[in-house]
Amino acid sequence: MAKITLQNLAHTYPGSKEQALKPMTHVWEDGAAYALLGPSGCGKSTLLNIISGLLAPSEGRVLFNDQDVTSTGTAERNIAQVFQFPVVYDTMTVGENLAFPLKNRGLADQAIKKRVDEIAFMIGLEATLDDRASGLGADLQQKISLGRGMVREDVNAILFDEPLTVIDPAMKTDLRVQLKELHRQFGHTMIYVTHDQTEALTFADKVVVMDKGEVLQIGTPTELFESPAHTFVGHFIGSPGMNILNGKINSNQIFINNISCNKLNKIDDISDAQIGIRPEYCRLSHDSGLPIVIKRVEDLGKHKVVRAAYEKTDINIILREGEEIEADMNRVLFDTDKISVYQNDWRVDHE
Ligand code: ADP
Ligand code: MG
Repeated sequence: MAKITLQNLAHTYPGSKEQALKPMTHVWEDGAAYALLGPSGCGKSTLLNIISGLLAPSEGRVLFNDQDVTSTGTAERNIAQVFQFPVVYDTMTVGENLAFPLKNRGLADQAIKKRVDEIAFMIGLEATLDDRASGLGADLQQKISLGRGMVREDVNAILFDEPLTVIDPAMKTDLRVQLKELHRQFGHTMIYVTHDQTEALTFADKVVVMDKGEVLQIGTPTELFESPAHTFVGHFIGSPGMNILNGKINSNQIFINNISCNKLNKIDDISDAQIGIRPEYCRLSHDSGLPIVIKRVEDLGKHKVVRAAYEKTDINIILREGEEIEADMNRVLFDTDKISVYQNDWRVDHE
């Protein structure tokens, strides 16, 4: 297994004017489960393929355990990679497909059988081991690809690029749990690419949030929820995402237009601040707080979401258990210790 270091890494595809990856320097810990999360086109696959060695970066270096591997191929890096769509050997059975990477490494037949059975059981392929891979449906074939990616125990890292895209939704949760279990058992460094926050947050110890070729934050699910480093992270994580309001900071006091809101302990004055507050940390009120217009209420079963607006800015409020909306509630209050302050979209520290 390996610690992976990205040093001043950036990438521009030949013939393109835009950087697909903006310069970044990060160390990814040995043995951790990472999710690479961001919208389509933000550079997730580009970064993953640079780490695996399928793509050479146009700038910077990749180190595995402090050794420069920038110009080595995937095989030399000793990496397993699972792609979005199935890659199976049509002429082989399911079992032979799973055994293939182990046969290649010259493992003894008995050891191969033991490991193949273990992996097949884990991902629910045990009944199909003798079936021909070519006749199977897309989601079974993708399970074979997943199994083949996970079968070797001696890899430096296992990389997954949106591997559950073709999997039946009902099976997705199961497989995600199995992948996490595999990580717990074998401790491989794993990097899992997805655009789905639920997938990222349930799978990973650390989530790497990307947008427009840039890594905006690397953090635990709790860190991303409680202290988003960038307004995009605030928006993207959470359902609904963080509310962001334009405002200013004057003598430790937050103002939205000229309405005074919460007072913070210690923060410099900012004339063009963005105030971030999650819907979970907003409360409806009668007589104090920011005036709002309630547009509708959505009952999601486990809680209600109030869709409101202050002037032209939407504000979502999640009602706490037992909290009811009374007729004259037309203001919103924010929990002071849950407020995030941003300037030019980046977080500003305060006490
Ligand atoms: P993601 O995996 O997050 O959807 P990608 O890494 O595939 O994003 O793409 C990042 C950006 O690089 C996109 O703007 C995409 O159009 C561009 N891109 C991806 N692959 C190539 C390529 N082979 N040649 C040129 N541009 C590419
Ligand atoms: Mg991709």
